[in-house]
Amino acid sequence: MTSSGVVWHPASVSKQSRSDLKQQKPCIIWFTGLSGSGKSTIANALEQRLAEFRQHTYLLDGDNVRHGLNRDLGFSDADRVENIRRIGEVSRLFVDAGLIVITAFISPFRNERQLVRSLVDEGEFIEIYMGTPLQTCEQRDPKGMYRRARAGLIKNFTGIDSVYEVPEHPQVTLDTSVMDVAACVDLVVDYLMTAGILSLSED
Ligand code: ADP
Repeated sequence: MTSSGVVWHPASVSKQSRSDLKQQKPCIIWFTGLSGSGKSTIANALEQRLAEFRQHTYLLDGDNVRHGLNRDLGFSDADRVENIRRIGEVSRLFVDAGLIVITAFISPFRNERQLVRSLVDEGEFIEIYMGTPLQTCEQRDPKGMYRRARAGLIKNFTGIDSVYEVPEHPQVTLDTSVMDVAACVDLVVDYLMTAGILSLSED
């Protein structure tokens, strides 16, 4: 005991015990790909499926984070890097809390994705590459962003005037121009089973 009467307890509730309580293996399921490639749609559907497997999850989505935690950041290369760094740190904390974190961010730079991968243990960063062709994304244009980017109203738009670096070794690749939502979710769930992250039966 110190003179102020404060006793320092070593952390007795660990990542392992928090995960054990939830009966699951924490990880980050990281969706990356162009705007309109289906990240949010598949991430949401996956979260629903994981709830059926009684998994404790948390979904971090581009727009939501940019309205709060990262509302001070824009879309310059430097701000994109900081955007992903903060999301990575938050994801790491959630993994430490024993959660399965699902993220849906364009995250165009390989280095930043690698940085997030390095924050967690081996096998805990699962990169899902949305390989939906630009042409399909642009045709969908769910938020009218491509139209505005082509008209020069938005600068630094990924796929138009800002680079997207395709993952070299993603754990799963999905192309929503040829696969429906359920098929995409099935592929991710198959991977999670194979990797030993998901082992419970659906109820
Ligand atoms: P992102 O998060 O990558 O910007 P969204 O999920 O917000 O992409 O948008 C994808 C759009 O494509 C949605 O409007 C969705 O309804 C549509 N879409 C059509 N087919 C599919 C599919 N097979 N998978 C996912 N989204 C699809």
